[in-house]
Amino acid sequence: MNIHEFQAKQLFSRYGIPVPRGRRADSVEEAVAIANELASSVTVVKAQIHAGGRGKAGGVKLAKSRDHVEALAREILGKTLVTPQTGPQGKVVKKLLIEEGVSIGHEFYLSLVVDRASASIAVVASREGGMEIEEVAAKHPEKIIKVFIDPTIGYQPFHGRRVAFALGLPKDVVNAFVKLLGSLYSLFMAKDASLVEINPLVLTTDQKFVALDGKMNFDDNGLFRQEDVRAFRDLDEEEPLETKAAEHNLNYVKLDGTIGCMVNGAGLAMATMDVVKLAGGEPANFLDVGGGATKETVKEAFGILLADPHVRGVFVNIFGGIVRCERIAGGIIDATREVRVGVPLVVRLDGTNADEGKRMLAASGLDLDVADTMWQGAQRIVALAQKGRA
Ligand code: GDP
Ligand code: MN
Repeated sequence: MNIHEFQAKQLFSRYGIPVPRGRRADSVEEAVAIANELASSVTVVKAQIHAGGRGKAGGVKLAKSRDHVEALAREILGKTLVTPQTGPQGKVVKKLLIEEGVSIGHEFYLSLVVDRASASIAVVASREGGMEIEEVAAKHPEKIIKVFIDPTIGYQPFHGRRVAFALGLPKDVVNAFVKLLGSLYSLFMAKDASLVEINPLVLTTDQKFVALDGKMNFDDNGLFRQEDVRAFRDLDEEEPLETKAAEHNLNYVKLDGTIGCMVNGAGLAMATMDVVKLAGGEPANFLDVGGGATKETVKEAFGILLADPHVRGVFVNIFGGIVRCERIAGGIIDATREVRVGVPLVVRLDGTNADEGKRMLAASGLDLDVADTMWQGAQRIVALAQKGRA
Protein backbone atom coordinates (compact mmCIF):
# COMPACT_ATOMS: atom_id res chain seq x y z
CA MET A 1 0.00 0.00 0.00
CA ASN A 2 1.16 3.55 -0.79
CA ILE A 3 0.50 6.77 1.10
CA HIS A 4 0.81 10.48 0.31
CA GLU A 5 3.79 12.69 1.04
CA PHE A 6 1.86 14.65 3.71
CA GLN A 7 1.03 11.38 5.47
CA ALA A 8 4.62 10.12 5.32
CA LYS A 9 5.70 13.43 6.84
CA GLN A 10 3.21 12.99 9.71
CA LEU A 11 4.88 9.66 10.46
CA PHE A 12 8.36 11.24 10.11
CA SER A 13 7.36 13.89 12.62
CA ARG A 14 6.16 11.31 15.15
CA TYR A 15 9.54 9.59 14.90
CA GLY A 16 11.55 12.78 15.35
CA ILE A 17 12.60 13.24 11.72
CA PRO A 18 12.45 16.98 10.95
CA VAL A 19 10.02 18.10 8.26
CA PRO A 20 8.95 21.60 7.13
CA ARG A 21 5.90 23.08 8.89
CA GLY A 22 2.78 22.61 6.79
CA ARG A 23 -0.56 20.89 6.29
CA ARG A 24 -2.76 19.33 3.68
CA ALA A 25 -5.33 21.45 1.81
CA ASP A 26 -8.33 20.23 -0.18
CA SER A 27 -9.37 23.61 -1.60
CA VAL A 28 -7.92 26.93 -2.69
CA GLU A 29 -9.41 28.66 0.40
CA GLU A 30 -7.81 26.13 2.73
CA ALA A 31 -4.48 26.57 0.95
CA VAL A 32 -4.60 30.32 1.52
CA ALA A 33 -5.64 29.86 5.19
CA ILE A 34 -2.68 27.55 5.80
CA ALA A 35 -0.30 29.97 4.07
CA ASN A 36 -1.61 32.71 6.39
CA GLU A 37 -0.97 30.53 9.44
CA LEU A 38 2.54 29.64 8.28
CA ALA A 39 3.36 33.28 7.50
CA SER A 40 6.67 32.26 5.92
CA SER A 41 8.46 34.38 3.33
CA VAL A 42 8.31 31.51 0.83
CA THR A 43 5.43 29.02 0.68
CA VAL A 44 5.61 25.76 -1.22
CA VAL A 45 2.50 24.40 -2.98
CA LYS A 46 2.80 20.66 -3.63
CA ALA A 47 0.47 18.32 -5.51
CA GLN A 48 -0.38 15.20 -3.49
CA ILE A 49 -0.70 12.15 -5.74
CA HIS A 50 0.60 8.61 -5.35
CA ALA A 51 3.45 9.16 -7.80
CA GLY A 52 6.86 10.82 -7.89
CA GLY A 53 8.32 13.13 -10.51
CA ARG A 54 5.84 15.88 -9.58
CA GLY A 55 8.45 18.63 -9.55
CA LYS A 56 9.32 18.28 -13.24
CA ALA A 57 5.64 17.94 -14.20
CA GLY A 58 4.74 21.29 -12.60
CA GLY A 59 3.28 19.86 -9.39
CA VAL A 60 5.68 21.57 -6.95
CA LYS A 61 5.88 25.37 -6.98
CA LEU A 62 7.17 28.15 -4.76
CA ALA A 63 5.08 31.21 -3.90
CA LYS A 64 6.40 34.54 -2.63
CA SER A 65 3.03 36.01 -1.56
CA ARG A 66 -0.43 34.98 -0.35
CA ASP A 67 -1.91 35.96 -3.74
CA HIS A 68 0.67 33.81 -5.43
CA VAL A 69 -0.29 30.83 -3.18
CA GLU A 70 -3.89 31.33 -4.25
CA ALA A 71 -2.98 31.41 -7.94
CA LEU A 72 -0.76 28.32 -7.68
CA ALA A 73 -3.33 26.36 -5.65
CA ARG A 74 -5.96 27.20 -8.28
CA GLU A 75 -3.58 26.10 -11.04
CA ILE A 76 -2.47 22.79 -9.48
CA LEU A 77 -5.74 21.55 -7.89
CA GLY A 78 -7.69 19.60 -10.50
CA LYS A 79 -4.75 19.52 -12.89
CA THR A 80 -3.79 16.17 -14.46
CA LEU A 81 -0.12 15.50 -13.76
CA VAL A 82 1.70 13.20 -16.14
CA THR A 83 4.99 11.92 -14.73
CA PRO A 84 7.12 8.84 -15.51
CA GLN A 85 5.34 7.15 -12.57
CA THR A 86 1.68 7.94 -13.44
CA GLY A 87 1.41 6.27 -16.83
CA PRO A 88 0.37 8.25 -19.93
CA GLN A 89 -3.15 8.98 -18.61
CA GLY A 90 -1.72 10.90 -15.63
CA LYS A 91 -3.30 11.51 -12.22
CA VAL A 92 -5.74 14.25 -11.24
CA VAL A 93 -4.58 16.34 -8.26
CA LYS A 94 -7.24 16.36 -5.52
CA LYS A 95 -5.12 17.41 -2.54
CA LEU A 96 -2.29 19.82 -1.89
CA LEU A 97 0.40 20.12 0.75
CA ILE A 98 1.08 23.72 1.77
CA GLU A 99 4.47 24.11 3.46
CA GLU A 100 6.95 26.71 4.56
CA GLY A 101 9.89 27.14 2.18
CA VAL A 102 13.26 25.81 3.24
CA SER A 103 16.59 27.31 2.27
CA ILE A 104 18.42 24.46 0.61
CA GLY A 105 22.17 23.99 1.20
CA HIS A 106 22.47 20.53 -0.35
CA GLU A 107 20.00 17.84 -1.56
CA PHE A 108 20.81 14.23 -0.58
CA TYR A 109 18.98 11.02 -1.40
CA LEU A 110 18.22 8.61 1.46
CA SER A 111 16.08 5.48 1.54
CA LEU A 112 15.54 2.18 3.31
CA VAL A 113 14.25 -0.81 1.40
CA VAL A 114 13.75 -4.52 2.05
CA ASP A 115 16.56 -6.22 0.14
CA ARG A 116 15.47 -9.79 -0.48
CA ALA A 117 18.76 -10.92 -2.03
CA SER A 118 20.75 -10.14 1.13
CA ALA A 119 17.81 -10.77 3.50
CA SER A 120 18.47 -7.40 5.06
CA ILE A 121 17.33 -3.80 5.13
CA ALA A 122 19.38 -1.80 2.62
CA VAL A 123 20.21 1.84 3.25
CA VAL A 124 20.54 3.48 -0.16
CA ALA A 125 21.98 7.00 -0.20
CA SER A 126 23.60 9.50 -2.52
CA ARG A 127 25.15 12.96 -2.50
CA GLU A 128 23.41 13.55 -5.82
CA GLY A 129 19.86 13.71 -4.47
CA GLY A 130 16.95 15.64 -5.99
CA MET A 131 15.07 15.32 -9.20
CA GLU A 132 17.81 13.61 -11.25
CA ILE A 133 18.32 10.59 -8.99
CA GLU A 134 17.14 8.02 -11.59
CA GLU A 135 19.65 9.36 -14.08
CA VAL A 136 22.46 9.30 -11.49
CA ALA A 137 21.62 5.66 -10.66
CA ALA A 138 21.66 4.74 -14.37
CA LYS A 139 24.78 6.64 -15.45
CA HIS A 140 26.86 6.80 -12.26
CA PRO A 141 26.01 3.76 -10.15
CA GLU A 142 29.23 4.38 -8.19
CA LYS A 143 27.58 7.48 -6.73
CA ILE A 144 24.95 5.34 -5.02
CA ILE A 145 25.94 4.15 -1.54
CA LYS A 146 24.54 0.94 -0.07
CA VAL A 147 24.87 -0.26 3.52
CA PHE A 148 23.05 -3.39 4.67
CA ILE A 149 21.45 -3.75 8.09
CA ASP A 150 20.84 -7.24 9.40
CA PRO A 151 17.36 -7.00 10.92
CA THR A 152 18.16 -9.53 13.65
CA ILE A 153 20.84 -7.14 14.97
CA GLY A 154 19.07 -3.93 14.03
CA TYR A 155 20.38 -0.45 13.41
CA GLN A 156 23.68 0.41 15.10
CA PRO A 157 25.37 3.82 15.08
CA PHE A 158 28.24 2.44 12.98
CA HIS A 159 25.78 1.91 10.11
CA GLY A 160 24.89 5.59 10.27
CA ARG A 161 28.53 6.71 10.49
CA ARG A 162 29.42 4.53 7.51
CA VAL A 163 26.71 6.19 5.39
CA ALA A 164 27.56 9.66 6.72
CA PHE A 165 31.25 9.34 5.80
CA ALA A 166 30.45 7.88 2.37
CA LEU A 167 28.18 10.89 1.78
CA GLY A 168 31.03 13.21 2.77
CA LEU A 169 28.93 14.97 5.42
CA PRO A 170 30.56 17.79 7.38
CA LYS A 171 31.87 16.46 10.74
CA ASP A 172 29.55 18.53 12.90
CA VAL A 173 26.37 17.10 11.36
CA VAL A 174 27.42 13.42 11.47
CA ASN A 175 25.79 12.82 14.87
CA ALA A 176 22.54 14.40 13.75
CA PHE A 177 22.57 12.16 10.67
CA VAL A 178 23.28 9.00 12.73
CA LYS A 179 20.28 9.85 14.91
CA LEU A 180 18.05 10.64 11.92
CA LEU A 181 18.85 7.35 10.17
CA GLY A 182 18.17 5.50 13.42
CA SER A 183 14.74 7.16 13.68
CA LEU A 184 14.00 6.30 10.06
CA TYR A 185 14.93 2.66 10.72
CA SER A 186 12.66 2.54 13.81
CA LEU A 187 9.77 3.94 11.76
CA PHE A 188 10.44 1.46 8.94
CA MET A 189 10.37 -1.54 11.28
CA ALA A 190 7.49 -0.38 13.48
CA LYS A 191 5.14 0.20 10.54
CA ASP A 192 6.02 -2.89 8.44
CA ALA A 193 7.25 -0.68 5.62
CA SER A 194 8.79 -2.10 2.47
CA LEU A 195 10.24 1.26 1.41
CA VAL A 196 10.83 4.66 2.93
CA GLU A 197 12.44 7.31 0.77
CA ILE A 198 13.48 10.89 1.42
CA ASN A 199 14.42 12.66 -1.80
CA PRO A 200 15.62 15.22 -1.19
CA LEU A 201 16.91 15.04 2.35
CA VAL A 202 18.08 18.61 2.66
CA LEU A 203 20.97 20.01 4.64
CA THR A 204 19.83 23.61 5.05
CA THR A 205 22.10 26.62 4.72
CA ASP A 206 22.17 26.70 8.54
CA GLN A 207 23.29 23.06 8.68
CA LYS A 208 20.05 21.36 9.73
CA PHE A 209 18.58 18.21 8.16
CA VAL A 210 15.02 18.46 6.83
CA ALA A 211 13.03 15.81 4.95
CA LEU A 212 11.69 17.87 2.05
CA ASP A 213 9.90 14.96 0.42
CA GLY A 214 8.66 11.64 1.80
CA LYS A 215 7.48 8.40 0.25
CA MET A 216 6.49 5.18 2.00
CA ASN A 217 5.26 1.79 0.82
CA PHE A 218 3.92 -0.83 3.21
CA ASP A 219 3.78 -4.61 3.15
CA ASP A 220 0.07 -5.43 2.69
CA ASN A 221 0.52 -8.54 4.82
CA GLY A 222 1.30 -6.34 7.82
CA LEU A 223 -1.71 -4.04 7.42
CA PHE A 224 -3.93 -6.08 9.76
CA ARG A 225 -1.82 -4.82 12.68
CA GLN A 226 -1.19 -1.29 11.35
CA GLU A 227 -4.36 0.57 12.12
CA ASP A 228 -2.86 4.04 11.67
CA VAL A 229 -1.37 3.09 8.30
CA ARG A 230 -4.70 1.64 7.13
CA ALA A 231 -6.35 4.93 8.04
CA PHE A 232 -4.07 6.62 5.48
CA ARG A 233 -5.56 4.62 2.61
CA ASP A 234 -6.77 6.96 -0.17
CA LEU A 235 -9.14 5.15 -2.51
CA ASP A 236 -9.04 8.12 -4.90
CA GLU A 237 -5.52 7.01 -5.77
CA GLU A 238 -6.23 3.32 -6.27
CA GLU A 239 -7.71 1.36 -9.18
CA PRO A 240 -11.46 1.07 -8.28
CA LEU A 241 -11.78 -2.47 -9.65
CA GLU A 242 -8.80 -3.59 -7.56
CA THR A 243 -10.46 -2.11 -4.46
CA LYS A 244 -13.71 -3.93 -5.21
CA ALA A 245 -11.85 -7.20 -5.83
CA ALA A 246 -9.98 -6.88 -2.52
CA GLU A 247 -13.32 -6.53 -0.69
CA HIS A 248 -14.23 -9.99 -1.99
CA ASN A 249 -10.80 -11.49 -1.27
CA LEU A 250 -10.02 -11.79 -4.97
CA ASN A 251 -6.47 -11.26 -6.12
CA TYR A 252 -6.97 -8.90 -9.07
CA VAL A 253 -4.50 -6.74 -10.94
CA LYS A 254 -5.71 -4.70 -13.90
CA LEU A 255 -3.56 -4.86 -17.05
CA ASP A 256 -3.75 -3.24 -20.47
CA GLY A 257 -4.97 -6.07 -22.74
CA THR A 258 -8.38 -7.34 -23.90
CA ILE A 259 -8.62 -10.96 -22.68
CA GLY A 260 -10.21 -11.18 -19.24
CA CYS A 261 -8.77 -14.16 -17.35
CA MET A 262 -10.42 -15.96 -14.42
CA VAL A 263 -8.13 -18.52 -12.86
CA ASN A 264 -7.64 -20.31 -9.54
CA GLY A 265 -4.16 -20.20 -8.04
CA ALA A 266 -1.45 -17.61 -8.67
CA GLY A 267 0.79 -20.07 -10.54
CA LEU A 268 -1.95 -21.08 -12.95
CA ALA A 269 -2.92 -17.40 -13.35
CA MET A 270 0.63 -16.56 -14.43
CA ALA A 271 0.76 -19.56 -16.77
CA THR A 272 -2.60 -18.55 -18.27
CA MET A 273 -1.36 -15.04 -18.98
CA ASP A 274 1.71 -16.53 -20.70
CA VAL A 275 -0.41 -18.85 -22.82
CA VAL A 276 -2.79 -16.03 -23.82
CA LYS A 277 0.23 -14.04 -24.99
CA LEU A 278 1.65 -17.05 -26.80
CA ALA A 279 -1.65 -17.36 -28.66
CA GLY A 280 -1.26 -13.75 -29.80
CA GLY A 281 -3.54 -12.04 -27.24
CA GLU A 282 -2.96 -9.64 -24.37
CA PRO A 283 -4.38 -10.35 -20.89
CA ALA A 284 -6.69 -7.65 -19.50
CA ASN A 285 -5.94 -8.68 -15.95
CA PHE A 286 -4.46 -11.09 -13.49
CA LEU A 287 -7.26 -12.67 -11.46
CA ASP A 288 -6.79 -15.42 -8.93
CA VAL A 289 -10.15 -16.46 -7.47
CA GLY A 290 -8.25 -18.51 -4.89
CA GLY A 291 -8.05 -22.12 -3.84
CA GLY A 292 -11.43 -22.02 -2.12
CA ALA A 293 -13.42 -20.57 -5.02
CA THR A 294 -17.20 -20.88 -4.66
CA LYS A 295 -20.21 -19.98 -6.79
CA GLU A 296 -20.28 -16.55 -5.14
CA THR A 297 -16.60 -15.80 -5.82
CA VAL A 298 -17.08 -16.76 -9.46
CA LYS A 299 -20.06 -14.39 -9.72
CA GLU A 300 -18.13 -11.51 -8.15
CA ALA A 301 -15.17 -12.23 -10.39
CA PHE A 302 -17.34 -12.08 -13.52
CA GLY A 303 -18.73 -8.74 -12.39
CA ILE A 304 -15.24 -7.32 -11.95
CA LEU A 305 -13.89 -8.69 -15.23
CA LEU A 306 -16.82 -7.37 -17.24
CA ALA A 307 -16.69 -3.94 -15.61
CA ASP A 308 -13.46 -3.34 -17.52
CA PRO A 309 -14.58 -1.82 -20.86
CA HIS A 310 -11.44 -3.12 -22.62
CA VAL A 311 -12.39 -6.77 -22.16
CA ARG A 312 -13.27 -8.40 -25.54
CA GLY A 313 -13.37 -12.00 -24.35
CA VAL A 314 -13.24 -13.99 -21.11
CA PHE A 315 -11.14 -17.09 -20.55
CA VAL A 316 -11.99 -19.16 -17.47
CA ASN A 317 -9.20 -21.60 -16.66
CA ILE A 318 -9.79 -23.69 -13.56
CA PHE A 319 -7.91 -26.64 -12.19
CA GLY A 320 -10.02 -28.48 -9.63
CA GLY A 321 -7.87 -29.66 -6.76
CA ILE A 322 -9.71 -28.78 -3.59
CA VAL A 323 -12.11 -26.76 -5.71
CA ARG A 324 -14.69 -28.94 -7.40
CA CYS A 325 -15.28 -28.19 -11.07
CA GLU A 326 -19.03 -28.79 -10.94
CA ARG A 327 -19.32 -25.97 -8.39
CA ILE A 328 -17.37 -23.64 -10.65
CA ALA A 329 -19.59 -24.68 -13.56
CA GLY A 330 -22.63 -23.88 -11.39
CA GLY A 331 -21.12 -20.49 -10.55
CA ILE A 332 -20.52 -19.73 -14.23
CA ILE A 333 -24.07 -20.73 -15.14
CA ASP A 334 -25.58 -18.60 -12.34
CA ALA A 335 -23.31 -15.67 -13.02
CA THR A 336 -23.92 -15.57 -16.77
CA ARG A 337 -27.67 -15.60 -16.13
CA GLU A 338 -27.35 -12.61 -13.79
CA VAL A 339 -24.71 -10.50 -15.51
CA ARG A 340 -24.91 -10.05 -19.27
CA VAL A 341 -21.56 -11.29 -20.52
CA GLY A 342 -21.82 -9.74 -24.00
CA VAL A 343 -18.36 -10.99 -25.07
CA PRO A 344 -17.14 -14.45 -26.08
CA LEU A 345 -16.55 -16.86 -23.20
CA VAL A 346 -14.25 -19.89 -23.23
CA VAL A 347 -14.08 -22.26 -20.26
CA ARG A 348 -11.48 -24.89 -19.56
CA LEU A 349 -12.07 -27.13 -16.56
CA ASP A 350 -9.72 -29.88 -15.44
CA GLY A 351 -9.27 -31.92 -12.28
CA THR A 352 -11.85 -32.92 -9.68
CA ASN A 353 -15.27 -33.54 -11.26
CA ALA A 354 -14.24 -31.81 -14.50
CA ASP A 355 -16.41 -34.07 -16.64
CA GLU A 356 -19.50 -33.29 -14.63
CA GLY A 357 -18.71 -29.58 -14.83
CA LYS A 358 -18.31 -29.73 -18.60
CA ARG A 359 -21.57 -31.66 -18.94
CA MET A 360 -23.40 -29.00 -16.94
CA LEU A 361 -21.99 -26.22 -19.12
CA ALA A 362 -22.91 -28.05 -22.33
CA ALA A 363 -26.45 -28.73 -21.07
CA SER A 364 -26.96 -25.14 -19.89
CA GLY A 365 -27.61 -23.84 -23.38
CA LEU A 366 -25.36 -20.86 -22.66
CA ASP A 367 -23.38 -19.24 -25.45
CA LEU A 368 -19.92 -20.40 -24.45
CA ASP A 369 -17.11 -22.65 -25.67
CA VAL A 370 -15.70 -25.50 -23.62
CA ALA A 371 -12.01 -26.22 -24.23
CA ASP A 372 -10.23 -29.44 -23.31
CA THR A 373 -6.78 -27.96 -22.73
CA MET A 374 -5.38 -24.64 -21.65
CA TRP A 375 -3.63 -24.13 -24.99
CA GLN A 376 -6.79 -24.85 -26.98
CA GLY A 377 -8.75 -22.51 -24.75
CA ALA A 378 -6.25 -19.67 -25.14
CA GLN A 379 -6.16 -20.00 -28.93
CA ARG A 380 -9.95 -20.11 -29.08
CA ILE A 381 -10.57 -17.04 -26.92
CA VAL A 382 -7.95 -15.00 -28.76
CA ALA A 383 -9.50 -15.92 -32.12
CA LEU A 384 -13.04 -15.15 -30.91
CA ALA A 385 -12.03 -11.84 -29.33
CA GLN A 386 -10.32 -10.78 -32.54
CA LYS A 387 -13.40 -11.66 -34.57
CA GLY A 388 -15.42 -9.53 -32.17
CA ARG A 389 -18.28 -11.97 -31.84
CA ALA A 390 -20.58 -10.64 -29.15
P1 GDP B 1 9.00 15.05 -6.63
O1 GDP B 1 9.45 15.73 -7.88
O2 GDP B 1 7.65 14.41 -6.81
O3 GDP B 1 10.01 14.11 -6.07
O4 GDP B 1 8.74 16.22 -5.54
P2 GDP B 1 9.71 16.84 -4.40
O5 GDP B 1 8.92 16.99 -3.18
O6 GDP B 1 10.98 16.09 -4.28
O7 GDP B 1 10.02 18.30 -4.96
C1 GDP B 1 10.79 18.51 -6.13
C2 GDP B 1 11.84 19.56 -5.90
O8 GDP B 1 11.25 20.78 -5.50
C3 GDP B 1 12.84 19.24 -4.79
O9 GDP B 1 13.88 18.41 -5.23
C4 GDP B 1 13.35 20.64 -4.43
O10 GDP B 1 14.43 20.98 -5.27
C5 GDP B 1 12.17 21.55 -4.74
N1 GDP B 1 11.55 22.00 -3.49
C6 GDP B 1 10.63 21.36 -2.75
N2 GDP B 1 10.38 22.04 -1.62
C7 GDP B 1 11.17 23.14 -1.61
C8 GDP B 1 11.41 24.22 -0.71
O11 GDP B 1 10.84 24.33 0.37
N3 GDP B 1 12.31 25.17 -1.08
C9 GDP B 1 12.97 25.09 -2.26
N4 GDP B 1 13.85 26.04 -2.58
N5 GDP B 1 12.80 24.08 -3.13
C10 GDP B 1 11.93 23.11 -2.82
MN1 MN C 1 11.20 13.96 -4.45
